[in-house]
Amino acid sequence: MKCTKCGGKAVVPIKRHNAAFCAEHFFEYFENQVERAIKEHRMFRRGDKILVAVSGGKDSLAVWDVLLRMGYEAHGLYIDLGIGEYSQRSKEKVLKFAEQRGATLRVVSIEEEFGLGTPEFARKAGRPACSACGLNKRYLFNREALRGGYDVIVTGHNLDDEAATLLGNILNWNVGYLARQSPVLEATAPNLVKKAKPLYRLTEREIASYCVLRGIDYIVEECPMAKGAKSIEYKYLLNQLEELSPGAKARFFFGFLEKGRPHFEAEQEKVEVRPCQVCGQPTTAEVCAHCRMLQRVGAAAAP
Ligand code: AMP
Ligand code: ZN
Ligand code: ZN
Repeated sequence: MKCTKCGGKAVVPIKRHNAAFCAEHFFEYFENQVERAIKEHRMFRRGDKILVAVSGGKDSLAVWDVLLRMGYEAHGLYIDLGIGEYSQRSKEKVLKFAEQRGATLRVVSIEEEFGLGTPEFARKAGRPACSACGLNKRYLFNREALRGGYDVIVTGHNLDDEAATLLGNILNWNVGYLARQSPVLEATAPNLVKKAKPLYRLTEREIASYCVLRGIDYIVEECPMAKGAKSIEYKYLLNQLEELSPGAKARFFFGFLEKGRPHFEAEQEKVEVRPCQVCGQPTTAEVCAHCRMLQRVGAAAAP
């Protein structure tokens, strides 16, 4: 297998592009895809303050790494979810990564913030763990970005994540979610920070290759609380499809962004948002879903 660019020994085949690259040209390809995502969706510009939400997994460490290499001012935010050894190990990976690069890292702990780790928190909230955890993370991403004066929050979502979410949204015809599923979410209300997913053009396999070739040490195990999640089954099915028809995943998601999403967006009724009476983050109710969950759990509502 030869590199499509230089004819040298290729180490990463990319079937959907009918290409293969040596390490050097794979890095070039990777950065080009990230650059294209940033430009096409006007995610951020040089000089913007970027907060990268890092879990210790391959995707978020890869996006932090590539943004630093490209010269962006990118700080990390790690949320310690209090999920036993899994949280311990993922935190170690993030701390090591930041230390090696002299990068700035903010760390927030769910136990310190709300008095309980994620498993007990979810039980008390009467919600599935991933739903309670997702609400906590989204709330803290936004709060920390506001406190630190960041222009944008970056997450590590990749093409596999986005295609799986799209499949789930279509199977259930969640038209509201279909209108909003996008590589960038603008700051459409006061106290809301813009969000961006610069890896949405890259697959999980490509990102894992990037980490291995760059020597990025990441936590391989999935969150133990996410076992049996639907998204894992959707990813499996999409990979089967990709085997039969290379490029299917990209056509499915990129085609949706170009041709599908505008229709759902146009159909959306405009909802009025206002600041939550407790925390000030935007909501359609008087008190936001996160603060209502905290009240149920009996945790001190963080202002
Ligand atoms: P997930 O919902 O676990 O697939 O994660 C999606 C994205 O959210 C990751 O790529 C990270 O950018 C971010 N993220 C997930 N968990 C954490 C965490 N514990 N701390 C900070 N960011 C996280
Ligand atoms: Zn090459
Ligand atoms: Zn609130």
